[in-house]
Amino acid sequence: MTHDNPKTGHNRESRLFYQSRSRRPLIDHAKGVYMWDVDGKRYIDASSGAMVSNIGHSDPRVIAAMNAQLEKASFAYRLHFENDAAENLAFRLAERAPGDLERVFFVSGGSEAVESCIKLARQYALAKGQAQRTKIISRFPSYHGSTLGALAITGYTPMHAPFAPMMVDQPKIPAPTCYLDRDDLSNHERGLKYANMLEAEILKQGPETVLGFIMEPVGGAATGALVAPDSYYARIREICDQYGILLIYDEVMTGAGRTGKYFAAEHWGITPDILAVSKGLAAGYAPLGAMIAPDRIVGPVLDHGGFIHGYTYAGNPMACAAGNAVLDVIDEDNLLENATQSGAALKAELGKLADEFPIIGDVRGLGLLLAVELVKDRETMEPIDPKHLAAARLVDIAYDKGLIIYWRRTRGGYRGDHVMVCPPMTITHDQFDDILIPLRAALGELQDELTLAGAFA
Ligand code: PLP
Repeated sequence: MTHDNPKTGHNRESRLFYQSRSRRPLIDHAKGVYMWDVDGKRYIDASSGAMVSNIGHSDPRVIAAMNAQLEKASFAYRLHFENDAAENLAFRLAERAPGDLERVFFVSGGSEAVESCIKLARQYALAKGQAQRTKIISRFPSYHGSTLGALAITGYTPMHAPFAPMMVDQPKIPAPTCYLDRDDLSNHERGLKYANMLEAEILKQGPETVLGFIMEPVGGAATGALVAPDSYYARIREICDQYGILLIYDEVMTGAGRTGKYFAAEHWGITPDILAVSKGLAAGYAPLGAMIAPDRIVGPVLDHGGFIHGYTYAGNPMACAAGNAVLDVIDEDNLLENATQSGAALKAELGKLADEFPIIGDVRGLGLLLAVELVKDRETMEPIDPKHLAAARLVDIAYDKGLIIYWRRTRGGYRGDHVMVCPPMTITHDQFDDILIPLRAALGELQDELTLAGAFA
């Protein structure tokens, strides 16, 4: 595969590889919610990359803060120096985090943040003399990261399967996909039904063997912005307390404002025992993530031989300077409020598309974490045959039209198809048409293609 860059004149065989042989155009520049490739084609970034670029691209305030830090000290290893940028960001995160979460451990991404949660939970159990606690219960479907520890608690078959023999199998319970249920229960009762599956699993495993339960408060790409009934959140907290099991919130995607609150946990007034955050924390300006935990958990671990875990780039000054500047932008530009308002308005517009296209089975989400589910039959929510790769095809058609929505592999993974529509928190109503016009056209083309292929027969 060659890459032609008309600007640099480079035309050469690529040495780079990711998941497959398919390639994408070269990026030239990006500003706000828009991105341009080297051929001058404009795209609207309606997925904020992978739900990362929460404050939009190339904000000069963040760039200036990062430059200022680079000029002061580009790197300071945490075992040699502490740095102001990391100290300040830790302080500010502790102020925003729910309840007693006040100790911050920096990492460079979501998988590292989740790995850190697993290791802290384990070392806390050891510090308390509960060495028999080794299991982390999670949900299926779910995504918690690509490193082997995070993958072991991930409920996504295609990524999990090749490595299954190398990992310790961790128990999973069904995610609360209430929108698929066709029973006579109320939403409240459904929330309790799914939460009680955790209790059943704890009892099955033996409560004394379980370290924790990990969940995304609003599902990410795995479930398509899945929001559970309110009763679910409270009951899960109650069950974890009852059995002395740590509740871990994976806010890698939901954290840093995407759902309209700085942490999604705030929507239900729940304080988890440990929380992971990444993506929006430095909003794509630098690789950054964090684990946040209370002193009641961190203290015993530090006093019991220390926290045996860490990464070279932890607390990187430039990444933390970016994180601080991103927080400033969120506050100065009132972006939490905009995520709430624009999120509700965009969700309503996507709902109108559902009136036009029977292929849309559900529109869901919170703030600007939104998803559109594609189905064969809206009444029964019967999925489209996975052989058609409907969601992936929609993403490709939209991309050709200059609309970036979030891709997810369908085959062999989850039931059904969905796409994520998650523009930066800076999106304004007058930019909605740049999303909705190409999306409407792409849905029309997809529906025609699938009809021809007999997908609805
Ligand atoms: N947890 C959740 C909920 C995620 O959505 C992701 C990434 O999509 C991760 C963990 C892993 O993050 P990263 O890709 O930064 O390692």
